[in-house]
Amino acid sequence: MRSQLPIAIVGGGPAGAMAGTLLAADGRDVLLFDEKLAWEKPCGGGLTHRALQRFPFLADAGSESNPVESNPVEHCELISPSGHRVRFHLRYPIAIFSRLTLNQFLLERARRSGVELHQERVTRIARSGEDWQLVTPQQEYRASYLILAAGARNSFRSQFLSPISPSDLMVTAGYFIPGRSSLMQIQFLKGITGYVWVFPRKDHVSAGITGKMGETSTLELRRTLERWLEKHGREGQTPKGQGFHWDGARFYSHILPSLRPQTFETLEVCGENWAMIGDSAGLVDPITGEGLYYALRSAELCAGALLAGQPEDYRTLVQEEVLPELKLAARVSERFYRGKVFGDSVLEQVVSLTARSASFRDLVSDFFAGIQGYHNLRDRLYRILPAVMAEGLAGTLRLPWNSDGSVFATDTVSEYLPPAS
Ligand SMILES: Cc1cc2nc3c(=O)[nH]c(=O)nc-3n(C[C@H](O)[C@H](O)[C@H](O)COP(=O)(O)OP(=O)(O)OC[C@H]3O[C@@H](n4cnc5c(N)ncnc54)[C@H](O)[C@@H]3O)c2cc1C
Repeated sequence: MRSQLPIAIVGGGPAGAMAGTLLAADGRDVLLFDEKLAWEKPCGGGLTHRALQRFPFLADAGSESNPVESNPVEHCELISPSGHRVRFHLRYPIAIFSRLTLNQFLLERARRSGVELHQERVTRIARSGEDWQLVTPQQEYRASYLILAAGARNSFRSQFLSPISPSDLMVTAGYFIPGRSSLMQIQFLKGITGYVWVFPRKDHVSAGITGKMGETSTLELRRTLERWLEKHGREGQTPKGQGFHWDGARFYSHILPSLRPQTFETLEVCGENWAMIGDSAGLVDPITGEGLYYALRSAELCAGALLAGQPEDYRTLVQEEVLPELKLAARVSERFYRGKVFGDSVLEQVVSLTARSASFRDLVSDFFAGIQGYHNLRDRLYRILPAVMAEGLAGTLRLPWNSDGSVFATDTVSEYLPPAS
């Protein structure tokens, strides 16, 4: 009787849709619940090279099999807290998606694999013997296994784990802005454990700001972002693009998991006939906020364990593959955002070295691509240090900061011009 009950997935974001697709493709009955189904979830929408390599069906965007077009962005600008800036070429483009179209595409794949999609909000989950009972305003359902993919605002978490602490969350505020750009911008800020980002999509821009919960209020973040956009909102303009301005922009805010090391240590991602994947489980890089890769990958690991008849192996797979990187990121996050090196803040040095050293620029580029992990970061830094020193010195002689604080890396495409001072 039990095995005839379906698997229930609560949440139809990238994690839920991916898990459903894999399970249904292997013949499992899957019910997926999402109160909105596809929607423009507050997000940058940036997918790294690592994610595109792991999930190639997302890489051939714009093809017949994947009509969802992303914006492959090849140029990045980093701005330090003091305003020094560098624009450089990314060795591997970042594919920036609208979340509405990405979610639509992933849910359609799930539907075609045989997932039964329900646009319903799950309001109650209870055990019913060894099974689960799920209640929505429309109906009651029973399931043999429960996958929670309800995102960062997972209201069922406390039924399974201790409630998430505000210290394990980031707040975000942002705007979807009409217009186009081909430049990804990241500005680090004084006193904020986070950053401003501008992620250009195919037909609009997602610009936002993130900071640790409790450190700054959402309202303060919003005002900081608005001031930043007022000042810099047209800088992404290139001769080819139309630039953007934020009149007519649509505001959003959301939360983002950013677990502390101690929280990762005690994290449980599954238990008796249940599992949590993606943001629900807190699987987000605490430094960069990258969550899409981890949502898709944790879904894959969870579905693989279930299909192998060993659902509890999901825990081990996450512990072995995903958590080591995320735990290390959580440990170095404070040092990255607040630490000092060679007499200046880490953030200032990162921007300065990116401007002055091609070897360091390659490292940063690989980091953005998701192929430079945290574990071998130190080794690579030591390896390239002599080159960085030599290039840095040459750069100092050749390329002092401009009066407006900008530096243009020598391999930067020349279509980018310094902003007017
Ligand atoms: C502002 C911002 C910017 C970001 N930028 C990036 C980025 O550029 N790149 C990147 O990799 N990551 C980014 N992230 C992180 C990324 O958005 C998440 O990691 C990703 O969406 C997680 O996917 P998920 O499927 O786990 O959860 P979600 O995408 O949040 O999906 C959860 C789904 O569950 C549904 N749901 C919730 N509760 C219920 C319920 N009770 N009943 C039915 N349905 C329910 C919701 O409607 C939602 O559709 C960003 C996050 C934020 C907040």
